[in-house]
Amino acid sequence: MSNKNIFDQNPRRARRYRIIKIRRFILAVVVLLLIAALGFFGVRHLLDRTGYSSESGFEKFAKETMKSIDGDTKMYGGEFQYEYGEPMSFATVMPATGYEAIDTAIADVWAQDRLNFENDNQTVAQQNQVALMAAYEASATPYDAESVAVHTYHYSNIDDAESLTERVDCYNIATKTGGELTLSQMFYGDYNSVFKQEADAYLQEKYADYLTEDYAAQIDAAAENFILTEDGVKFFFNSGTVASADQGAISMTIPYEKFDGVIRTDIGKRIIDPNKPMVALTYDDGPSVDNSTDRILDVMEKYDVVCTFFELGERVDEEGDRGAELLQRELKLGCEVGTHSYSHPNLYELDTAGLQEQAQKSIDAITRATGQPPTIMRPPYGNGNDEIAQIFGLPSINWDVDTLDWSSRNADAVIEEVHKIGNLDGCVVLMHSIYSSSAEATERLVPELVDQGYQLVTVSELLQYKYGYTPIEVKHYGYFFRPESGE
Ligand code: ZN
Repeated sequence: MSNKNIFDQNPRRARRYRIIKIRRFILAVVVLLLIAALGFFGVRHLLDRTGYSSESGFEKFAKETMKSIDGDTKMYGGEFQYEYGEPMSFATVMPATGYEAIDTAIADVWAQDRLNFENDNQTVAQQNQVALMAAYEASATPYDAESVAVHTYHYSNIDDAESLTERVDCYNIATKTGGELTLSQMFYGDYNSVFKQEADAYLQEKYADYLTEDYAAQIDAAAENFILTEDGVKFFFNSGTVASADQGAISMTIPYEKFDGVIRTDIGKRIIDPNKPMVALTYDDGPSVDNSTDRILDVMEKYDVVCTFFELGERVDEEGDRGAELLQRELKLGCEVGTHSYSHPNLYELDTAGLQEQAQKSIDAITRATGQPPTIMRPPYGNGNDEIAQIFGLPSINWDVDTLDWSSRNADAVIEEVHKIGNLDGCVVLMHSIYSSSAEATERLVPELVDQGYQLVTVSELLQYKYGYTPIEVKHYGYFFRPESGE
């Protein structure tokens, strides 16, 4: 039986069929038009990417490039500004977060980028084009925190060979203080494993054909390049790191639920007032074989304060599960975990390979134990410098107040050394977590300091909130913090 026969028997159905046919035709035309339009815009996009040859062309090109940012690009305002030149051009949309330390940090990074860019491109011929551009995305979060990611683009078109690279710098802000959140203020457990697993799955699925040879190592390198958003933690991979450069920077948001048990629920709640006195207690050479580390942590927990531990990688390894538990407890309480090298050598006596070994082995030991790399380092005997800090890839810090606890092994003597200093505002106090006398001194000292109105903070918090290092530079900070001290 043919359709025609049915229609002959039922003219109403035949009319409806004709209408359907017309609709199908219209639909087909619309689809074809859409495809044509997509093709047109696709081609136009490509044309944009093949550069510009005029001021208005650059303005358009810069705006198009910035449009590729997939987050909120307006939260902090900011005007589009550009300078066209031959061969060098610049364009920015800079955020005005209103948090002074963050705005200054972002402006400093841009100023440094611009300087490097001008130096690097001094010899580019006038008929070529090079451009430096920056714009941002920002996010509110479910915490007392806001985040901003600044995307910086390097474009060059030299003798018709084009390249566009993208780098993303992230800032997570504690809104109550305006300071940058440190890693230990956001995570207390193995967020790294969650991140790596999710990143690997995401990249294998979406960028299988573009992955670079060392993409696994590049995933590791991006572990701290994230912002907090409304729904989760958004990580960024700079262009050319995990995937070929033509893929641009890649972002990936991991929902907060995936970080249950390793992310703090109280991010940004702890208030550090930059205008009130603060002091950083620090403990070297642990984790301890006796119960000194636990006793120190009991005090921190009881008074709801924090300190910094500079741990020896070798000790962490030797202590096995017990060592890992101690380090995890330190992080859980909000304390900072730094490295004090692997085996406590005099770093001045090591060559580059030896320094690299001390850095890598100690960072690996701490990362294995906690899932988080250390965020700061202290050279044994205070023998550090900028070069060593660079090799460790961490800010390096000594102390201002040596309690001589290692020599006196006496709590009274330790406390007396601290009292001798008087005003401790801005100081870093050196103790060791391997002596019961130092644990006892801590039990007596902490309530006293709290009573006197000191905020007990980590070293990274001190660097930021007292001294305005946001971000904290990788260099050797030495002994200079103690006020009115020439040491
Ligand atoms: Zn030491």
